[in-house]
Amino acid sequence: MEQINFKKNDVVTITIEDMGSDGEGIGKCQGYPIFVKDAVIGDLVQAKIMKAKKHYAYGKLEKVLKPSSFRVEPKCAFHRQCGGCQIQSMSYEKQLEWKENKVRNNLLRIGGFPRELLDRVMEPIVGMEEPYHFRNKAQYPVGTDKNGKLITGFYAGRTHSIVANTDCCLGPKENKIILEYILAFMEKHVIPAYDEKSGKGLVRHVLIRTGFATGEIMVCLVINGKDLPERKEFIEGLRGLTLEKKREGDGKRIVSISISPNTKNTNVIMGDKTETLWGEPYIVDYIGETKFRISPLSFYQVNPVQTEKLYGLALEYAGLTGKEIVWDLYCGIGTISLFLAKKAKQVYGVEIIPQAIEDARQNARLNHVENAEFFVGKAEEVLPKKYEEERIYADVIVVDPPRKGCDEACLNTMVRMQPERIVYVSCDSATLARDLKYLGENGYAVRRVRAVDQFGHSGHVETIVLIQKKNS
Ligand code: SAH
Repeated sequence: MEQINFKKNDVVTITIEDMGSDGEGIGKCQGYPIFVKDAVIGDLVQAKIMKAKKHYAYGKLEKVLKPSSFRVEPKCAFHRQCGGCQIQSMSYEKQLEWKENKVRNNLLRIGGFPRELLDRVMEPIVGMEEPYHFRNKAQYPVGTDKNGKLITGFYAGRTHSIVANTDCCLGPKENKIILEYILAFMEKHVIPAYDEKSGKGLVRHVLIRTGFATGEIMVCLVINGKDLPERKEFIEGLRGLTLEKKREGDGKRIVSISISPNTKNTNVIMGDKTETLWGEPYIVDYIGETKFRISPLSFYQVNPVQTEKLYGLALEYAGLTGKEIVWDLYCGIGTISLFLAKKAKQVYGVEIIPQAIEDARQNARLNHVENAEFFVGKAEEVLPKKYEEERIYADVIVVDPPRKGCDEACLNTMVRMQPERIVYVSCDSATLARDLKYLGENGYAVRRVRAVDQFGHSGHVETIVLIQKKNS
């Protein structure tokens, strides 16, 4: 192949043939791949080379010369600046097809699984019925624009500059009303936004969380100080907002107003504690029939509708009859554990964060689940230790690790425990493929694979896999 020497600012015309793992378009110029953010598969584009490496280059989208048939009018005017949605210009159907293919390709290339097997075991991706307004939680940074006007919105991709937008189409529509009230309240009382550079100013972030099943809303202001001036007016103003036409005792309503002091110069959004100004210290929500109390600091799935579908699949793949012992590794606040406990004899959860385990225990009590027990620690330490010392047993092991996947010490112990089934829930199909390869080489076979879209318009995709002992 002829060596091409691109230089910065060269302009190329290319057809976008593929997309990278973060949703950036990829086209080739005489075999040399060029990554172009915001370009859609099928587009003919003009791109300016920003950075040229030996084997690939990054280009900036200058002009769409011939739009792809998969291009759609994006709902949000800010999607190119904002770090939240990378592929909003592509039709949702095509997004789903691309995500399913991404999982398939990783299993093929990294996992080494043959095509025929993947054709047999892969089930169609589970998409959203409504790919907008699905997120139940948002943390909006508060700041000022060039003219000193108070703004709130989202960070532009990979930066800390705020794109002013109170109307994000991924979150609930009511958030706009709440945010506009907060900005007006701050303006009226001359309450300054926090400035990261100087460390001065008061309001850092607004956290809004909504229980989709219950309509309960929580508003928490993260502040650079201990107190919020004009508390009483703030509370009354928020409570007086008309969020949507309510039927008696139903509809969206604010039930919890709090502040979280955070005076540290840090990227961590929330402070260590929260103070309830009015209402409950938590909101209540349900995933299926499992009830959760969610405080401003607790972790909770951000797309509860898709989460319920995912956990429904976890239950189906686990094949529980009421007699099984289940280990749920990386259990967080016990969402999967509690979902499975109703159909299992006993569930054991393992999670690294002590606060999450406290929440898991509390959630178990709240749901009157008595057959779930939780342990704090690293899965790769707790499991081997318990196996060595107590010869713990599992019929089914469920894992839901963070993006880096499972530690080999964890996988190794899982194999030694010889469970009948393993259900792997993954948020990164590359590490999933690596871990499935290990399990495949150690006596287990992949039986079912299904992608579930939890984060429409982003490059992310969840996958759930059923793995079974080879000889059964
Ligand atoms: N299953 C849960 C959470 C999954 S997210 C749910 O559905 O809500 C992954 C979880 O793994 C996080 O809670 C994280 O704190 C935890 N975690 C990360 N590394 C871990 C490790 N080495 N051992 C155990 N848990 C870990």
